[in-house]
Amino acid sequence: MARSVHVPGGHGRAFAAKAGDLIKLIDVKGRQALDFVAFNADDLSETLSSVETRRALLSLYIKLGDVLLSSRGRPMFEIVEDTIGVHDYAVPACDWSRFAVEFSVPGHRNCLDNMFEPLGAFGVASPLKVPEPFNFFQSSPVVEDGRTAVIDPPSRPGDYVVLACRMDVTCAVSSCPQDIIPGNGLVPTEFAIEIAAGRD
Ligand SMILES: [Zn+2]
Repeated sequence: MARSVHVPGGHGRAFAAKAGDLIKLIDVKGRQALDFVAFNADDLSETLSSVETRRALLSLYIKLGDVLLSSRGRPMFEIVEDTIGVHDYAVPACDWSRFAVEFSVPGHRNCLDNMFEPLGAFGVASPLKVPEPFNFFQSSPVVEDGRTAVIDPPSRPGDYVVLACRMDVTCAVSSCPQDIIPGNGLVPTEFAIEIAAGRD
């Protein structure tokens, strides 16, 4: 029996999953980036790590079949289904200061707060404990001179990714509330998450 988590556009949620569970991340309306972080449920000092995953994959992008590693180099997730194949794990989460300094919009909703706030119920005590995210459906192509850009995702309504959990995890997500520059079609929209018991 699958559990469902509804993530309103521009907001965040946290949830737990067990080793073997399958987490399906569904871009309901399309063109929406979803920031995603995770912790070892039994030891919050071990987190999903973009740096460790890049070291192992030797790739700027993640794709079907890739194993995502923890900060201790252990498998946390495997991408077992992916209908789009465009994701980012290099760009940091948008945060309060980015909107205040770069866009002069203090108090704007942001991915770091969206993920940190619901993680409080799971024992995460500070936003400094929230690791760099994996940004599913975010399109960050390499452009001229090796620079990177962030453009609107190519995802269509209903595109999805399925992660198989390799350990018990606490996860948080944010439907990125960026509505000033491209990245979410300028209108943040909802995500649906389904957590199903897997084949453990
Ligand atoms: Zn964001």
